[in-house]
Amino acid sequence: HDEEAAARAAATEANSGAPTIFDKIISKEIPSSIVYEDEKVLAFRDINPQAPVHVLVIPKLRDGLTELGKAEPRHEDILGHLLHASKIVAEKEGIVDGFRVVINSGATACQSVYHLHLHVLGGRQLKWPPG
Ligand code: AMP
Repeated sequence: HDEEAAARAAATEANSGAPTIFDKIISKEIPSSIVYEDEKVLAFRDINPQAPVHVLVIPKLRDGLTELGKAEPRHEDILGHLLHASKIVAEKEGIVDGFRVVINSGATACQSVYHLHLHVLGGRQLKWPPG
């Protein structure tokens, strides 16, 4: 249906290397609520939060990492950095004792923005399994 077609279209566009909305967030052309930032990553609040705390952690340089499924050995350092930054975000948000990190990779997993991002979720009892 429509949602699936849109997800597939976004995936196709991503693989062409087209910029995403996150480029405009990185350049601060589009405002965002920044929670944490360093030279390599940016963490900001999700515009459509799925939990009291819902922060996205992204690499400032996409470098082909449209989705986790496209990761290469050269991305090992940034992948580790992103995961550690997620822990810093959880600490800053006061949820380090219980939180979840999610990466949707590809249309089947409902990825909608093709610039790798980690969802940091918490602030309520989370359920398992996710949908
Ligand atoms: P995913 O579906 O895993 O690709 O996640 C993309 C996320 O980006 C969704 O949770 C959206 O709510 C979020 N999002 C999209 N546009 C913005 C924006 N301008 N600012 C903050 N979050 C956004």
